[in-house]
Amino acid sequence: MVLAWVVLAPVGRAAEGPGLALQGRWSAQPPDTQVIASWGQAFDPQQLHVFADARGSWVSLRPARGQWPTGAYVLEVRSPGLQAVSLHAPGAMPRTARLGANAADAWPMHDSLVFPLPALPRDGGPLLLEIHSGGVIAAPMSFAVEPVDGYLRDDARWLAFAAACLAVMAAMALMALVFAFDLRDATFAFYAVFVLAYALILSIQCGFAYDPLGWDWIAAAPREWGRLATAVSVVFAILFLDRFAHLRRHAPGGRRLLVGYAAGTAVLSLAGMLPVAAPLVRALVNPVLILGGPLIVGVAIVAACRGSRYALFYLAGWVPLLAVTVLGSLQLYGLLAGWTGSGDAALAAGAFDAVVLSLGLADRSLALRRDRDAARRLADIDPLTGVWNRRAWSDRLAQLEESARRFDRPLSLLFLDLDKFKQLNDVHGHEAGDAALQSLAQWMGRVLRDHEQIGRYGGEEFVVSLPGTDGPRAMQVAERLRRQVQAMGARGGAVTGLTVSIGVATLRPNESTADLIHRADAAMYAAKAAGRNRVVRAEEGE
Ligand code: GH3
Ligand code: MG
Ligand code: MG
Repeated sequence: MVLAWVVLAPVGRAAEGPGLALQGRWSAQPPDTQVIASWGQAFDPQQLHVFADARGSWVSLRPARGQWPTGAYVLEVRSPGLQAVSLHAPGAMPRTARLGANAADAWPMHDSLVFPLPALPRDGGPLLLEIHSGGVIAAPMSFAVEPVDGYLRDDARWLAFAAACLAVMAAMALMALVFAFDLRDATFAFYAVFVLAYALILSIQCGFAYDPLGWDWIAAAPREWGRLATAVSVVFAILFLDRFAHLRRHAPGGRRLLVGYAAGTAVLSLAGMLPVAAPLVRALVNPVLILGGPLIVGVAIVAACRGSRYALFYLAGWVPLLAVTVLGSLQLYGLLAGWTGSGDAALAAGAFDAVVLSLGLADRSLALRRDRDAARRLADIDPLTGVWNRRAWSDRLAQLEESARRFDRPLSLLFLDLDKFKQLNDVHGHEAGDAALQSLAQWMGRVLRDHEQIGRYGGEEFVVSLPGTDGPRAMQVAERLRRQVQAMGARGGAVTGLTVSIGVATLRPNESTADLIHRADAAMYAAKAAGRNRVVRAEEGE
């Protein structure tokens, strides 16, 4: 599975693209046009660079060798995050772009800011950019100048890739929500909120939320939404892990640590909304988030080692995501500048995590279903004889009664009471009585048909419902049972000397099931009164 992720990650945008080799210089001061060749510090525009000066940074780009080529090109500022960038071209008004801001021309801006360049500077002079960092976290960005067709091809590919990753996350989250309602299990809901919040973070970071989704409400306040989504995803990832991996049982100490951490993260994120606290929060948020990943993984490892099977699912999905997040965070401090695919890797890791955790949830829901079915069976079955208990049998009789009326079909009942059963207990002991009840119930299960349901109504009283069977036919069934019990009793074994008295009743129009049972019971007593070991049919008609 990790392999799948590794293969998927580089599918996004070609890291180098068919761009021109560039050389760059940058400075916190705008250049003096006379001395631009020696102005600022040299840097490699193809590698990631963090421009964090709050007053803004200036970048100049020129071809690494010779002159600019002719033809239609675009200047691409890759992974700009929330930073705005202005292009200052000689003799033209500066053009400013930011992800989510409507650019004057409708170029797609997917994880990059795009300045169309109908012509590159004739004199080989530099392209001059101003990076605005005020008030936002400076994202590590890189630059490319490439032909229009190459850019459009790359962009279409990236769009398909990002849409696929985000769609996988959204689909898994929606499926989990359905399960949450169906199974009444909040674990699934926590998972769904985590995945949706994480997908929102990704789509804010790479600009997918603004284009193609066109969510203007996010574009209007991307920082606030980003912060909210981060807090929500961290808190719900922890809530989810807690329930999914049974931390209370498998890692109670780690659980307390995580709950404290989740609360701290939530408070920090909310504090960021206060202008006074904003600078401090900006400084703290990343270290705190970097810390959180390993913390979550550490607790999940502890839970897995102590026998939580679901902690393993969590780890399998979470480790690639965590690796990408931590490495991406390190890039904010200027490390790993050569890896321009971290944004795409985050999308792939998010989709991968959603799929792995969904498999874990599917496993969990199957286990829940199995447990629930087993519990229901236990609650419905008489433990001694293995036939339906009185309540479960009565529930089924009510269903049979309903369909008998709907389809105008007969429904009959047998009420069986073993004769002189007390004696059998007295002579051979209670265990022998139990064994007789068990073997009788097993035998009835074999000779009756599947839809003819047997219930244990009381101590040594059994009831049998016969759907689709009228009175005369029910009498035949009862008589056959009576004779066979007698024959078995004569043969010895567990049911030595046993006989049975049976009352038979058939459902009347407008009769309740309680009355039907009552009439069958009364017929059984009539059989007892008439000398036992016989079948009596309750009176028919109104
Ligand atoms: P009859 O029905 O023919 O009038 O006589 P009986 O001896 O069967 O009468 P009654 O219904 O009064 O007694 C039922 C006896 O069934 C009482 C009890 O000892 C026995 N019994 C009830 N439940 C169980 C059980 O689960 N196991 C065993 N071994 N005996 C049971
Ligand atoms: Mg009895
Ligand atoms: Mg009896």
